[in-house]
Amino acid sequence: MKDTYLNFVNSPFGARLVRSIGLPKPEVLRRQRADRPEFDGLVAIGAGREPHLLDALAGVIARSGFTSVAHESAGLWIPLATRHGLMTGRFEPAEAGPHGRVAALLFDASGIQDSSQLDSVFAFFHDTLRSLDTCGRIVVLGRPPEACASPRQWTAQRALEGLTRSLGKEARRGITANLLYVAQGAEHEAEATLRFFLSPRSAYVSGQVVRIAAAPAAPAAATFAWSQPLGGKRALVTGAARGIGAAIANALAAEGAHVIGIDIPSAREALEATLRPLSGTALAFDIAAAETPAQIAAALDESGVDIVVHNAGITKDKTIARMTEAAWHSVLDINLSAQERLDDALLAAGTLRDGGRIVSVSSISGIAGNMGQTNYATSKAGVIGRVQSMAAQLAARRITINAVAPGFIETQMTAKIPLTIREAGRRMNSMSQGGQPVDVAQTIAWLTHPGCAGITGQVVRVCGQSLIGA
Ligand code: NAD
Repeated sequence: MKDTYLNFVNSPFGARLVRSIGLPKPEVLRRQRADRPEFDGLVAIGAGREPHLLDALAGVIARSGFTSVAHESAGLWIPLATRHGLMTGRFEPAEAGPHGRVAALLFDASGIQDSSQLDSVFAFFHDTLRSLDTCGRIVVLGRPPEACASPRQWTAQRALEGLTRSLGKEARRGITANLLYVAQGAEHEAEATLRFFLSPRSAYVSGQVVRIAAAPAAPAAATFAWSQPLGGKRALVTGAARGIGAAIANALAAEGAHVIGIDIPSAREALEATLRPLSGTALAFDIAAAETPAQIAAALDESGVDIVVHNAGITKDKTIARMTEAAWHSVLDINLSAQERLDDALLAAGTLRDGGRIVSVSSISGIAGNMGQTNYATSKAGVIGRVQSMAAQLAARRITINAVAPGFIETQMTAKIPLTIREAGRRMNSMSQGGQPVDVAQTIAWLTHPGCAGITGQVVRVCGQSLIGA
């Protein structure tokens, strides 16, 4: 759907008007485009005491094509960057220095042991934030607090969440801020995630905390084909005929996967229209029908699948006192129980291969609850529970399971929302705008990457840092 306000405020007259009366000015977000390099420009590097991740960062910067400058907190960066052959220098503020604005700020806080050492974080962001470009990226790296050796270290690492989320709210201008907790031993498994959070693919993901664990037998980053990481993989996507599901099909196919799209029989034509240009396979099934899981497993039997994305979902909104039992049941059944039945069938038959990926689409309604959505929020909170409860069990087969929780995304589902509520949903986030289906799709594509073997049981919101459920 068109966001008329966003288009207006980005016209010369609209920009002048909103400036003079102090209205929010959503930025046109920088999204991935085939004719633009994904990584371009300067990254300013900062670090706390005894950083553990600079070496891994140097590899990422070298392979991605960024150049870097070191803030004075990261003196160790200079010899590393020199060793990796990266062009480098000292950070200078945009107004003073020769290098102008920076594309990203990266802070390695992994060595911080005590709250008194958080001053280095202040020094870095105090000095650099104003030099960050529009739609720039902030990534803070720490250690998972729950794995820290002492209460003081746990405290200081946990404090980084407040910092990162506040940076996202302060920075505005389409800038995102996210925190990666990288476990000991997983230092060299963060590249796919770092690339995602530094790239335009994460345009609408901000204020998130992701934990990266060391995964046994994780492939080395140097072996990935970064442009087609899903080459040779087969991906099943439910609800693929339109909206977010169609965007997921496109994103996974663009990364090299063969996509098998599922949607209800009445949407067959739209489903085929989505899959045809992707050379994908269209399967018309109602995922809620009792016989469907076995039929899908049988249809996929020969070749199996590597990726399952549970995207199909419906809403039937009414306050609970006015809700029919049928509306309650169908939302729970399609949004939650059908996923459980389908996964059970695919796992039992071995159709979902070892080392595979499951990603379920939840919602911020499932985190915060929502008036008139007891059925929907119950189903979407259940999706989160499922992901959390299944992760350990699936780890034995090296299968990861994660959820994405979209906020307000511009689709036919949200076009049905009454105008005033729709406008509020669009503006109540750090980006002051709704997201696009591609934003959810790219986030799912990242979670299916072979380099994300150490991310499981987690929920990543795609909500522009919505105020709801924050
Ligand atoms: P949409 O209504 O545009 O698309 C949903 C698709 O799922 C449709 O193609 C539909 O035919 C299919 N589907 C529904 N029931 C099915 C069934 N029983 N079997 C097979 N296919 C079925 O919705 P969307 O906005 O693209 O949403 C996609 C997912 O994202 C849903 O799970 C939704 O709850 C979730 N979500 C959306 C938003 C948003 O703002 N749009 C926000 C949070 C979460």
